[in-house]
Amino acid sequence: MAERVIPLVDQRLTALRAMLPERSIPATGLLADTRGRPLRDLRISVTDRCNFRCSYCMPKEVFDKDYQYLPHASLLSFEEITRVARQFLAHGVHKIRLTGGEPLLRKNLEILVSQLAQLRTVDGTPPELTLTTNGSLLARKARALKEAGLQRVTVSLDGLDDAVFRRMNDVDFPVAEVLEGIAAAREAGLGPVKVNMVVKRGTNDHEILTMARHFRGSGIVLRFIEYMDVGATNGWRMDEVMPSAEVRARIASEFPLVPLDPAAPGETAQRWGYADGAGEVGFISSVTQAFCGDCNRARLSTEGKLYLCLFAANGYDLRALVRGGASDEELASAIGHIWQGRDDHYSELRGTLAADTGTGARRVEMSYIGG
Ligand code: SF4
Repeated sequence: MAERVIPLVDQRLTALRAMLPERSIPATGLLADTRGRPLRDLRISVTDRCNFRCSYCMPKEVFDKDYQYLPHASLLSFEEITRVARQFLAHGVHKIRLTGGEPLLRKNLEILVSQLAQLRTVDGTPPELTLTTNGSLLARKARALKEAGLQRVTVSLDGLDDAVFRRMNDVDFPVAEVLEGIAAAREAGLGPVKVNMVVKRGTNDHEILTMARHFRGSGIVLRFIEYMDVGATNGWRMDEVMPSAEVRARIASEFPLVPLDPAAPGETAQRWGYADGAGEVGFISSVTQAFCGDCNRARLSTEGKLYLCLFAANGYDLRALVRGGASDEELASAIGHIWQGRDDHYSELRGTLAADTGTGARRVEMSYIGG
């Protein structure tokens, strides 16, 4: 049956104005949104380009050869990204994750990593600096990223069977090269390496046990992600979602599991350990077990828009402030003002009328703001 693909409406062209609040909001590290959620985790998309065409994120039919990527001049420079990130740290961010598209496609990324590694959290400690990648360029880049100050990587890998993997990335990319990238990351000390598998019922769910057998006992943390209705182009259907409970049952049928405590507040994955001590697996269940309650994540698009939720329809244009002569205090104040007004909790609303923005605006594409 042909994949359902919905034409793209270019969200990149719209933005909400990032207002400077009348009353300045100083960065105290204690910022909270309307639900009392602090700002702890900043995901920075450094490119809207990717060399894969995973159908659940960047379907080839939409992101085809005529697709217009953002002009380089519109992207935040490394210096601008670092300046904006500094204000987020002042508001309480402790963790920075670099994403894309495929972040390793951004030239000289290690320069940005080294700049971000110089920053400090409100406690005076370096931020936790991580990166999510499809692993295709990791074997070449791992050592330089580590030397620049990157601490950990998460690699997206949707199967071990080469034919399945090539079908999932839809650019015929061999799985062996991603496995080489994972090995290089471990060798470079970018661990513990995490591996994320998006499970799509009827497409790669038969790979669940293969993946578990391969990574258990390796020190690599394997996480299973429920297929999500991100963006507006992947033709998402609920009957292609395999709930985490079902994935867990499939693994437990061969390897008994025990629940583990969250490693940090706001963590997206539910952690489970192999009862025989052979490591842990995680389940990211945005569809069947929403985790908006303690979501402390903000997302910065590659050209400087602040999104408050992965499923948001619009972002706030911080670049206009950065390039418009705003001071650091003003920038921090605007970020504070935006976060204080945040009420996003899409996953709790999914499937209800309330989930619809009511403005007809469609959700932003994950390839644009990062997962
Ligand atoms: S749906 Fe939005 S608010 Fe909820 S956990 Fe995901 S990013 Fe956070």
